[in-house]
Amino acid sequence: MTDTLVTASETSGISQERRIVTAIPGPKSHALTERRLAVVPVGVSSALPVFIERAHGAIVVDVDGNQFIDLGAGIGVMTIGHTDEAVVAAATAQLGEFTHVMFTITPYEGYVRVAELLAQHTPGDFPKKTVLLNSGAEAVENAVKIARKYTGRTGVAVLDHAYHGRTNLTMAMTYKSMPYKLGFGPFASDVHHAPNSYPFRDGLSGADSAARTIAYLEKAVGASDLACLVVEPIQGEGGFVVPAEGYLPALQEWCAANGVVFIADEIQSGMARTGVYFASEHFGIVPDLVLSAKGIAGGLPIAGVTGRAEIMDASHPGGLGGTFAGNPVAAAAAVAVFESIESRGLLAEGARIERLLKPALLALQQKYEVIGDVRGIGAMLAIELVQPGTLEPNPAAVTVITAYAARHGVLLLNAGTWGNVIRFLPSLAISDALLTEALGVLDEALATL
Ligand SMILES: *Cc1c(COP(=O)(O)O)cnc(C)c1O
Repeated sequence: MTDTLVTASETSGISQERRIVTAIPGPKSHALTERRLAVVPVGVSSALPVFIERAHGAIVVDVDGNQFIDLGAGIGVMTIGHTDEAVVAAATAQLGEFTHVMFTITPYEGYVRVAELLAQHTPGDFPKKTVLLNSGAEAVENAVKIARKYTGRTGVAVLDHAYHGRTNLTMAMTYKSMPYKLGFGPFASDVHHAPNSYPFRDGLSGADSAARTIAYLEKAVGASDLACLVVEPIQGEGGFVVPAEGYLPALQEWCAANGVVFIADEIQSGMARTGVYFASEHFGIVPDLVLSAKGIAGGLPIAGVTGRAEIMDASHPGGLGGTFAGNPVAAAAAVAVFESIESRGLLAEGARIERLLKPALLALQQKYEVIGDVRGIGAMLAIELVQPGTLEPNPAAVTVITAYAARHGVLLLNAGTWGNVIRFLPSLAISDALLTEALGVLDEALATL
């Protein structure tokens, strides 16, 4: 095993530096794009048609030898860094032991260990159980199944600007029509979209926005029909929307008073991204169920629904599962991610990144009126771009900036219902020097507007 570990880190051999050596995309990426267009449907689009060959830490290298500073981390998946040695070693070892037996036929320890770690690190000091799945959407689907079975009710409430996935039920739960839903219906029924808290746009206090949400749920839906309310503590695709103070606790209290299962979709905000294991902690909420996926296994597909044992046990035996769910290689990687967060003190890195990035973004806001809002926590920060002096969304500026950044070796992701948000969710392994360099490119890009 030690041999594998050394080999992995030596062959990665990727310097943590930005280096652009061809046009973006380069000739090899162009050639691969030609092949791709012949065999991959246009529905699967890519933000940047640059083919990646290798990655390490906070740097990804394309097939033409260009090195990019990765501020997106595959949408917050590579939280502990690309090709992290501990994750590579754990997954490699498991590959040689067994890769599949199916937990619902014959169980194995890795699945149980991940469930123990999730019980330990999700909010709440009560007995918890976890079902493992393959993707975030599948975790959302299973949380709804469990909440329905537990409550005997069918209604599902979500918030405006939410993103919960691309399967039939989760499309219904997702807010934004283009590109996620348009033409893909009919959608699952009994899903209700309530107003969210979006301080930059609604200017409401937490108490007032909670009252608005609750009024909608009581008047338009009816509390006694609701199985669950699903919230993202910080909305991801919706544009890293941080709710006003007191908003989420008020929703949790209302759910508890009305027998509604309170579910936190922490698929993007969880797993050390915001300087704590789960962002719920920042808001003082203790969800009944917590969903995790993106960051938990260093890029291997695995997801979890973790929650109060009495709720999780509502399903009859055989009601939960899936062929690949809780795959042993992905489970081994997840255990290594948890161990790395502990042994390398990675919870502190979110705060470090925020300390460097947030004041710099606020300084850019002073310099460029197009930046309407700077928000977020830890390594989950964003700027919302507007027509100067208004709330009018400015997606064109985001397109110009992300394209400029890509040509200059920085991968930036957009977000937001209007596509007018740039989100920063780098790996926690990124150095201050790389962050500062990327900020320089962002400054140049803003200056071109
Ligand atoms: C990405 C995401 C999902 C869906 O996860 P998939 O693995 O893509 O199915 C659900 N909820 C949130 C908050 C997400 O960010």
